[in-house]
Amino acid sequence: MDPEELERRLIDCTRCGTCLKDCPVYHETLDEQYTARARVNLAKAVYYHGRFELGEGLRDIAEACLLCRACLEACPNKVDGPVFARLLRERVVERFGETAMRRAAFRGVLPEPGRVGWAAVAVRAAQRTGLDRFVGAIVTGSLATGSLAAGALGALPRLPARPLTRIHRPGSVLPPADRDGTDGPASNHRPKARLAYFHGCLNDRVFPQTGLAVIDVLRRNGYEVVVPPQNCCGLPASAGGDLAAARGMAQANVEALGRAVADWLITDCASCGSALREYGDLLGTDEARAISAKARDINEFLVTEGFDREGLGEVALTVTYHDPCHLKRYQDIPAQPQALLAAIPGLVFKEMRDAAVCCGAAGSFVLTHPDLAGRIGARKAANALATGADAVATACPSCRMQLERVTVRAGRGLPAPHPVELLARSYAAGDACRRERTPVDPARACQARTKASAG
Ligand code: SF4
Ligand code: SF4
Repeated sequence: MDPEELERRLIDCTRCGTCLKDCPVYHETLDEQYTARARVNLAKAVYYHGRFELGEGLRDIAEACLLCRACLEACPNKVDGPVFARLLRERVVERFGETAMRRAAFRGVLPEPGRVGWAAVAVRAAQRTGLDRFVGAIVTGSLATGSLAAGALGALPRLPARPLTRIHRPGSVLPPADRDGTDGPASNHRPKARLAYFHGCLNDRVFPQTGLAVIDVLRRNGYEVVVPPQNCCGLPASAGGDLAAARGMAQANVEALGRAVADWLITDCASCGSALREYGDLLGTDEARAISAKARDINEFLVTEGFDREGLGEVALTVTYHDPCHLKRYQDIPAQPQALLAAIPGLVFKEMRDAAVCCGAAGSFVLTHPDLAGRIGARKAANALATGADAVATACPSCRMQLERVTVRAGRGLPAPHPVELLARSYAAGDACRRERTPVDPARACQARTKASAG
């Protein structure tokens, strides 16, 4: 950010304190130093007066932020609180350096998909041998800014044996499918568009079922889907203040995604989507701006472009929805996931209280502040469970891990599928209905029921 822009943003804050009321961290801590107002003041001290003597205290204040943008939404002057948290994190990295674990993650593992794969293999082996809780304690201790708090990585869901990129190898090109999802005559038809699918790290290694559903739904709707080689979107590094590492990952993705020559770039990860949209600003090149302009979230894409509703079958589930901050506030996609859920026959939607309040995951926040993340997550779990829903859908794999973990802790674990997984299940129910030759009423969609399982 240039100095003039920074000064303008600093002056915009009138210290009114309105941002405090919606800040999840302030709600839990009642500590003024962890608010947007405090970080604006601190940014003034650091940028204009060179006051670095705050030392590790500066790191603590910079990092105790979810980057959720609730403060920006509440602020009458639209001061962007997370911008100041990120600026302070950059200064912390410049001045005091990065923790060894973060340096290893941002510079060693995440820029190399092969190393991410090896890390996943190691975690899976640890899970199978029961070592995961031990490993989690060590890693969390290295990441934590303050105390050694164990357990966050130990709570990772069981990793699948086959990641998405083992099923659809990087470089795969998948033609449009027939309505039943198979490679019938439709695969010879001219596709409506060529879509490059950006799955990100988590939907590759942890939740490949999301990627399979996205590919299935897009192909059924007449699109050609390319799975380009790709690496981490860079968001963990940019959020952590390591802009050099974030730029490296962004540049590698811009080159790889450019080679895919797609009409649109589709992602099903709210965090990746917001990162892709920032590539233009982060790199400042025409190529990066072109990638950012093509990036679209799958929920928004399907609702805007339309999708086949006649092929949908019944999914007898009650579902609530959690708004990921990186979808609603960073990409301005507030209602499209709910619109997809509303299109599914038989699905009952129950809105939860405070659906748009951050779940507490916030990338590595759950690792650096496990106690605080757990308390924020407990409120979310209580609100989700109060709806009586069978599942709490969400459109971000990081939120998904947190929601599944905190609802288990609250006494009734809820699955947290991506809305497109439920849409794919609805298409599968429609297929079953047609196979059984149940008369299809095109006005009402096929009435075959899926088994009432939310997972
Ligand atoms: S950031 Fe906005 S809401 Fe918060 S104190 Fe400043 S002007 Fe008020
Ligand atoms: S981004 Fe969220 S956690 Fe950070 S100061 Fe703003 S409201 Fe609080």
